[in-house]
Amino acid sequence: MKKISLIVPCFNEQETIPLFYPTLEKIKPQLRGYELEYWFINDGSKDDTLIELQKLQSQDPNQVHFISFSRNFGKEAALYAGLKAVNGDYVAVMDVDLQDPPDQLPEMLAGIEDEGYDIVGTRRKNRQGEPKIRSFFSDLFYKVINKISSTEILNGVRDYRLMTRQVVNAILEMSEYNRFSKGIFSWVGFDTKYLEYENRDRSAGNTSWSFWKLFRYSIEGIVDFSDAPLSIASFIGLFSFVIAAIALIFIVIRQLIVGGSVAGWASLVSIVLMIGGLQLLCLGIVGRYIGNIYLETKKRPIYIIKEKK
Ligand code: UDP
Ligand code: MG
Repeated sequence: MKKISLIVPCFNEQETIPLFYPTLEKIKPQLRGYELEYWFINDGSKDDTLIELQKLQSQDPNQVHFISFSRNFGKEAALYAGLKAVNGDYVAVMDVDLQDPPDQLPEMLAGIEDEGYDIVGTRRKNRQGEPKIRSFFSDLFYKVINKISSTEILNGVRDYRLMTRQVVNAILEMSEYNRFSKGIFSWVGFDTKYLEYENRDRSAGNTSWSFWKLFRYSIEGIVDFSDAPLSIASFIGLFSFVIAAIALIFIVIRQLIVGGSVAGWASLVSIVLMIGGLQLLCLGIVGRYIGNIYLETKKRPIYIIKEKK
């Protein structure tokens, strides 16, 4: 029998897991007779997520599996652990909070089997119910990354998707430590179709993404999928040099023609400070890349499993 594996990352989701499973079981008859296999990844939750998963697993040991990490490694690590563990013919990635509409799963399956796509992903049409400030920065992030990266990352694309085994194998080849899934999913290529859907609220619980976590995630995405900031740093250097050279020529010529002492230490100090600031900024940009190289060369495991069933 052919099988669809479902990877579900969970971080502090004790309230949403009991809602998630019955919803999916209701969808199952529409999945063309495919067997459904659940792989929940407990990403070091502090609440009773693991207990909920153990309960579910003992109720339905053939279908339900879980991996429990030794601590919180992040959603990206959870997805990678899931992709490594599953062996289904098709693999889906889905959040446990039901923000990823499970009723789109049959349509995704049709996209692959009837229309011949390798990946059917989802894209949200709007960001309803999300704070305005978060939407603003999200839009800005997508604009920036698509300008400077050759990997296209569409605005509003979710991790929620169904993929063929071939795609999963390609993703598994990318064993990098710094994992930015949106970029990785797009980088591997393949024929992709996006289903659009309206944003909806979590079924329960709260989002675990704070503003700073999202900010760091965006920087990570840019550093992982573009080296343009390095070129920008060089450009800033070149630009300052040219301006300074012109200014110098101007000052020398003026000195020769007009003579007298040159006033204006205030402008001098501000220019020195400005250049100093730009140097630190560029150093910081270079530092981010070196930091990533450092983490990458240590070859630490991406996650550590404490329990697997
Ligand atoms: N998640 C995770 N590890 C984390 C943070 C989140 O596995 O460190 C999971 C979480 O349980 C959920 C999914 O990733 O299933 C999306 O998280 P969330 O709903 O908090 O994000 P949002 O939908 O607000 O982007
Ligand atoms: Mg969510």
